[in-house]
Amino acid sequence: MTYETVVGLEVHVELSTKTKIFCGCANEFGGEPNTHACPVCTGMPGVLPVLNKRVVEYAVKAGLALNCEIANFSKMDRKGYYYPDLPKAYQISQFDLPICKNGYITIHTNGVEKKIRILRIHMEEDAGKLLHEGSLGSKADYNRCGVPLIEIVTEPDIRSSEEARDFLDILKATMDYIGVSDVKMQEGSLRCDVNVSVRPQGSETLGTRCEMKNVNSFSAACKAIDYEAARQIDLIEDGDKVIQQTRRWDDDKGKTFAMRGKEEAHDYRYFPDPDLVPIVLTNTEIKAFKDALPELPAAKRARYVSELGLTEYDAGVLTNSKYIAEYFETALKAYDQPKKLANWVMGDLLRLLKDAGLLPEEMKSDPALMVEALKLVDAGVVNVTVGKAVFEEAFKTGKKPADIVEEKGLKQISDTGELEAMIQKLIADNPKPVADYKSGNAKALTFFVGQVMKATQVKANPQVFNEIVLKEIEK
Ligand code: ADP
Ligand code: ZN
Ligand code: MG
Repeated sequence: MTYETVVGLEVHVELSTKTKIFCGCANEFGGEPNTHACPVCTGMPGVLPVLNKRVVEYAVKAGLALNCEIANFSKMDRKGYYYPDLPKAYQISQFDLPICKNGYITIHTNGVEKKIRILRIHMEEDAGKLLHEGSLGSKADYNRCGVPLIEIVTEPDIRSSEEARDFLDILKATMDYIGVSDVKMQEGSLRCDVNVSVRPQGSETLGTRCEMKNVNSFSAACKAIDYEAARQIDLIEDGDKVIQQTRRWDDDKGKTFAMRGKEEAHDYRYFPDPDLVPIVLTNTEIKAFKDALPELPAAKRARYVSELGLTEYDAGVLTNSKYIAEYFETALKAYDQPKKLANWVMGDLLRLLKDAGLLPEEMKSDPALMVEALKLVDAGVVNVTVGKAVFEEAFKTGKKPADIVEEKGLKQISDTGELEAMIQKLIADNPKPVADYKSGNAKALTFFVGQVMKATQVKANPQVFNEIVLKEIEK
């Protein structure tokens, strides 16, 4: 039997507001334990939370960017949560009236366009961190208590780890574009719970799901999906049943392990938080947030295709990171050849970033350097191979491409006389490739190309010397 994998994601995004969700403590990653904590975020008796207006703004912007309906009326609820990392023993979250619902993200996995529906987005507070020190016991750091989060919950519309990856990439890019989160996965600003079930291909009913909590990288989420789907299929094929469970993904072992039976909503004892007033938003306020949004990845991508003539694939790669798109657009203002530029950005820039172990947001290189290298190639000062090498050096050192060419004497040799003499000698010294070429093996010419490039340290103008080689051989 063939099976279909069904995945739903619950993504937690930490909002990059200056202060926490219900108090004035700094919302900063790290810091000495318990230095960004106060009676409110540690839940001392008698304190009163006040909702940070900026959290509502960011949640609404996220919802609008993900095509959601925004609620004119929503409220905060208490969710029973009896763990020492949130000392007041409940989490303030949203239950039946979330701030946003019914949105979607469009993905293009393997060239197929598909909408992944978003069920809801709600606001909530993060919990602190427990530091387990073995026999010495455990310590609690409450710096993260009260850090504002939005939780984005999808419908079970995802059908493979590849689709999950595309969904997460676009979600991350979108949050980055609208500036509501720094989306640093390494600092836990974006984490997801992965729900997986399987069912016979063609079946309409959902299978029993397992949930992996707090998976903290996209590649781990994908591996967890593939592992879990295979595990469930094995169980079913063996005549066993999948049990609804919360499981832990162990990234080192590459496996999931049972943690506990899955809790149900009624286990949480939700009720409206009596300390917080409902959140009322007028349509005018919502529209103002909408008008303030920048061009989003999906719109940018479509524009790169329709206005710049790029392929869907190239447009997708370029818009997947706000920083790469900004680099590309800045360069484009000074160099109006989108396709060539796209090739250099995708081929050369992305490779250099990868080699340097840099994320796009960590890049400091000025797009003007790429433009200058491209212009040197176009003007015939250097050939393409040298031009790319010059850009690479400019990227690494910050030196100007023209200066690098000057310093290293990299100017292209287009002087026919010089190249002619060189080629005549090569032809005289190497009768075999000449004979091969004349007997119909066109590839034999690559020998001369290689020799000329070697002799000129790749500086020869390929057009000029190709013509000379042909002319001299035919003599
Ligand atoms: P919770 O996990 O908090 O109890 P829900 O029951 O609303 O919340 O489901 C959370 C996530 O699980 C959603 O993303 C939903 O799409 C996904 N999900 C629900 N049922 C299934 C299923 N049978 N297979 C895969 N994912 C599922
Ligand atoms: Zn506080
Ligand atoms: Mg869940």
